[in-house]
Amino acid sequence: MKLGHLEMGQGTPAPAVTVADLSHSKPSAFAGVPLVSPGFAHGAPSFTTHDAMVDFVTGLARTSRHARLSSLGRSQLGRDIPMLHFTREGLADPEAIAALDRPVIWLIAQQHGNEHAGGEAMLALAAALATGELVSLLERLSIVVVPRINPDGAAADQRVLASGNDLNRDHLLLSQEESRALHAAMGRLPPDVVFDHHEFSVARRWVEKFGGSHSLDVMILEATHPGVPRSLTDIARRLYRPVLEATLERHGLSSHDYVTTAADKSDLLVSLGGNAPGIARNAFGLRGSVSYLIETRGVGLGLQRYSQRVATHYLLAKALLEASAGEGPALRRAVGVARRAAAADRSPLVVAHELARRPLELPLVDPESGAARPTPVTLADSRLLATVEQRARPFGYLVVRGGEAVAELLALLQVRSVRLAEPARLAVEAYDVERLGRPTRRAGESINPDRSLSVTLRATTIDVPAGTLYVPMNQPACGVVAAALEPDSPGSYLGVGVIPMADDESEAPVYRVMNYSIMVSM
Ligand SMILES: [Zn+2]
Repeated sequence: MKLGHLEMGQGTPAPAVTVADLSHSKPSAFAGVPLVSPGFAHGAPSFTTHDAMVDFVTGLARTSRHARLSSLGRSQLGRDIPMLHFTREGLADPEAIAALDRPVIWLIAQQHGNEHAGGEAMLALAAALATGELVSLLERLSIVVVPRINPDGAAADQRVLASGNDLNRDHLLLSQEESRALHAAMGRLPPDVVFDHHEFSVARRWVEKFGGSHSLDVMILEATHPGVPRSLTDIARRLYRPVLEATLERHGLSSHDYVTTAADKSDLLVSLGGNAPGIARNAFGLRGSVSYLIETRGVGLGLQRYSQRVATHYLLAKALLEASAGEGPALRRAVGVARRAAAADRSPLVVAHELARRPLELPLVDPESGAARPTPVTLADSRLLATVEQRARPFGYLVVRGGEAVAELLALLQVRSVRLAEPARLAVEAYDVERLGRPTRRAGESINPDRSLSVTLRATTIDVPAGTLYVPMNQPACGVVAAALEPDSPGSYLGVGVIPMADDESEAPVYRVMNYSIMVSM
């Protein structure tokens, strides 16, 4: 089936590819899924324009006692980014919602503008939460839906933001309006759980590199960065994983852990997700939430099998919400216990790691005939980590330059920092820095970025003025702190220039506090 490309606004979108209909699912498996959304309102499915999306969510908020519409912020081209809060009481105030004894579940979609099915599913899900089959979940849950966080990309049918940056690599650096707006809103109503909805590329780079295309319907992955509190990962694996697998099986959907491969054609490595802290899936975990990525087979398919792709996101999100509601307050307590354990953790920090590599047979298919073409590849497994650099966990970090920018970014990521009230002489560990000469890429950052610096630790004593920034580690989002402030952590604030350092300097303007010389109660 050949499908034409839909013009949806500015930009030069890639044409949809023609591929055999290779999905394992049968359309009948989706009968009864209530896709009440603009894309399915008029006969043949269509992509939903920005205005139609805004009209639709406005209508939901008007007709539902439970839905309240607000704005996450504005995109780089000035488009509103709608955000919906769903509670039994119809609350709009984040503080009032946070005070309820119910888990707070965030669902976000379309970080990548050309991954339409996830966003459309969030509109259908919002309708079901507002007045449809999912209203009863609000007895046990509070839910936030951001159906289209990259409206500029969606309008241009492109992956990236209007600036050309990949939003889903920017969740540590927060250099883009959209990522800053999301994390600011999460600061006002911290998620216990976040589900992030995407679509994966079916053919292009897979055919170019491996001669096969994907026939799998779904790929899923939890947060995998080593700084994510272990007990949050355990909730993802024990509570949500079986629910996802049962739902996939019930609907005849084939699936795999999320794998991806670089755009570079000479790089034949396949990665299980990636461990960059700036990937949303990892950043949500580092800031103290259970985090799961849901991907359907879709990029490059245009509207082919669109209703099935949207229904798949809907069904998986519904299953995840039902599992969350089944736990109810116990889920919120479990996340709270995990956060407190993270704040109290004194185990060594894994500052840099490599992904262990193992052979994997990828279930690709012939792009023309659909015949099975199992393809042996080397997998970089983000769950099997080989430690490159491990060091004692400090009690906190002193940032003697760039403190203002660091404090502002970290505050958006649920990290509290303080200013020293008086000048002080402190015993610390200093970093002697060696630049590794690799380019630092603020935008389009790799899923497993290289380290741009190596360091040698040295015990010393420093004099710091009043007002110096101190970032303590005894807080739930300590994984964010270490990822941002250990200079040789990939993507660190020193490595990417948020903390400035001249070429002829060798001592980093960041220090590790290894004793209780600074007492902060958080
Ligand atoms: Zn994506």
